Amino acid sequence: MTRTEKLLVELIALPSVNPAFLPPRHPHAGEKRVADFLAVTAARAGLEVEFQNVLPGRSNLIARLLPRNKIRQTILLAPHLDTVGADGTKFIPQRRNGRLYGRGACDTKGSVAAMLSALCELANAKSRPLETEIVFAGLIDEEHAQAGSRALVKSRFKADLAIVGEPTKLRVVTAHKGSLWLELETHGKAAHGATPQFGQNAIHEMARIVDLLETDYAARLRERKHPLLGTATVNVGTISGGAQPNIVPDCCKITVDRRKLPGETDAGVQREIAALLRARKLSAKISSAKLAPAVPLETNYKLPLVQEFMRCVGQKKPLGVHFFCDAAVLSAGGIPSVVFGPGDVAQAHTADEWISLAELERGKDLILKLLQSLP
Ligand SMILES: [Zn+2]
Repeated sequence: MTRTEKLLVELIALPSVNPAFLPPRHPHAGEKRVADFLAVTAARAGLEVEFQNVLPGRSNLIARLLPRNKIRQTILLAPHLDTVGADGTKFIPQRRNGRLYGRGACDTKGSVAAMLSALCELANAKSRPLETEIVFAGLIDEEHAQAGSRALVKSRFKADLAIVGEPTKLRVVTAHKGSLWLELETHGKAAHGATPQFGQNAIHEMARIVDLLETDYAARLRERKHPLLGTATVNVGTISGGAQPNIVPDCCKITVDRRKLPGETDAGVQREIAALLRARKLSAKISSAKLAPAVPLETNYKLPLVQEFMRCVGQKKPLGVHFFCDAAVLSAGGIPSVVFGPGDVAQAHTADEWISLAELERGKDLILKLLQSLP
């Protein structure tokens, strides 16, 4: 077993389910077990370790490898420590046919293991960068509200490049969409179901809005194309309204998921939908339904450090993905960010989550290759 595989096996066996997905005080909840374990691993390799408290009992783990000379640049390796939920058997790692199965194998304990192993190996290597500081940050809460990356940015942490660990099949990703969740609410006038002419039906009003969003608005968004990300999209995800068949409903609500391209803002999207409704003489109250903003990511792939990383990976063209992650938060906080890690996002969040062990090892090698190439 390689050092990276051993580390991943140990990480899967330490449940770190995001508390947002579990009842209070569930034994699998929280990142603390994993953060404590990684702190010991990092300290043993000679890294400087500190915890950044973010939420009660939940801290980012920061481990630093300082250069011998003056720091001229900083590289941040930033995978998240939390996972989505799973039944108890998924915390017993299983090795089968060159794959490792278990919750978090690809999303994103595989990246945690590859990145920290690379850094520990570098710390003990004969030669390492003389002027580049390398920081590993195990972040909490990516799967829910990204409190970890938001806290890191708020602490004014700066780096010249962040590599955010997520399963990208070892490709350097420079762009992803943002997402905006909106709630729309229509109001009518209640009346007896036998005399609907005295009421105003809020569900009927909403039905016309849903149709408008799913047809004309969706078609308009399909004309907005990004070279790496395709088009912006809209999806009406939930609807509720009315009390019983014999009452004219006076209220109806929907929630909408709108995926944004770089350049689109939350306020701009809200204005655009409001204008569309006005033009059709429809009216609804529009409000945001998300805890925290989820902005798009678009990092300039011509930045020298991004180019150097792409060269190490053997990749000529930049790439976009459809999923949101911490990279957008770090990037909005002024840290140029890319996404990179072993595994395929198709296996993330599934009951049968797995990672290829060969890819895991190659991920560690590629990160190490980049770090060793730096001054
Ligand atoms: Zn993830």
